[in-house]
Amino acid sequence: AAKRDGRGRARTFSRAMLIALEQREMFRRSLRIALQEGQFFVEYQPLVKPPFSIVGFEALLRWRHPLAGLIPPSVFIPMAESDGLMSEIGQWVLEQACRAARTWPAQFTVAVNLSPAEFLREGLTDRVAQTLDAVGLRADRLELEITESVLLERTTNNLDTLNTLNVLGVQISLDDFGTQYSSLSYLKNFPFDTIKIDKYFIKDLESDEKSQTIVRFIIALAHGLRMRVTAEGVETRGQANWLQTEGCDQLQGYLLGVPMPAEAIDEFLRQSSLVMS
Ligand code: C2E
Ligand code: MG
Ligand code: MG
Ligand code: MG
Repeated sequence: AAKRDGRGRARTFSRAMLIALEQREMFRRSLRIALQEGQFFVEYQPLVKPPFSIVGFEALLRWRHPLAGLIPPSVFIPMAESDGLMSEIGQWVLEQACRAARTWPAQFTVAVNLSPAEFLREGLTDRVAQTLDAVGLRADRLELEITESVLLERTTNNLDTLNTLNVLGVQISLDDFGTQYSSLSYLKNFPFDTIKIDKYFIKDLESDEKSQTIVRFIIALAHGLRMRVTAEGVETRGQANWLQTEGCDQLQGYLLGVPMPAEAIDEFLRQSSLVMS
């Protein structure tokens, strides 16, 4: 196609591509030093049992690049993953999250996302057990979130890993449910504690009957399997009310609380106890 547009167009096109590539390369290089330079930080978003009880927080990784500013995880996590940096970064997130949770009231859990590389790397269960031990956090206060793409390969090992985590007492959530393969065989074979419904089905819940039908189905499916169900991306009172009526166990979204740095949680908890009383 570039050829048909003539030489000028084709050259401009490839120059733009080159710039994009160089930028990617530049980001990859800075990603490697970001951890040692302390450019990463973790934010925590509340998980709420409707209507208003906080049950825990999800840890969400942030990268503040000195020049480019805040770079979203959807951009840098895939890069870190393909550069083989994600297990080191992920281990750092796990430690941060466990340390933060240690300072919260004891009934609160902390959820940590695991990327495929972290999950598939040898020794995950040992690293998790060691981290909990070193920090002094009870295993049942940690939830690990994985997506279905993690489970595509090496099925027997995956089952072993999840079973070992389960025996440790760590909780396991299936993240972004409904957007990937949604193969029901995962639900039959793997010991999940929670299914998280992707925000894609929540955003138009108030107006779209198809989304309502799908969300109702996932809630019934989860409960039938004795799993909890969390709705992601809850932004309106209407969505929250609908989900509560339908028996959704937990809500997460800007309505209930935005992701916040660890230092802001005390104040957030004070404010929310005022709202509840
Ligand atoms: P996720 O695990 O599904 O996390 C939920 C995402 O939804 C977060 O995006 C959160 O900020 C966003 N969100 C929360 N409430 C709302 C809402 O009401 N409306 C909308 N539109 N969005 C909402 P974020 O922080 O940009 O993270 C994106 C993804 O990056 C995460 O999706 C997760 O897959 C990945 N991620 C984040 N932190 C980590 C990490 O430490 N390790 C790994 N492996 N992945 C991470
Ligand atoms: Mg998640
Ligand atoms: Mg999710
Ligand atoms: Mg999601």
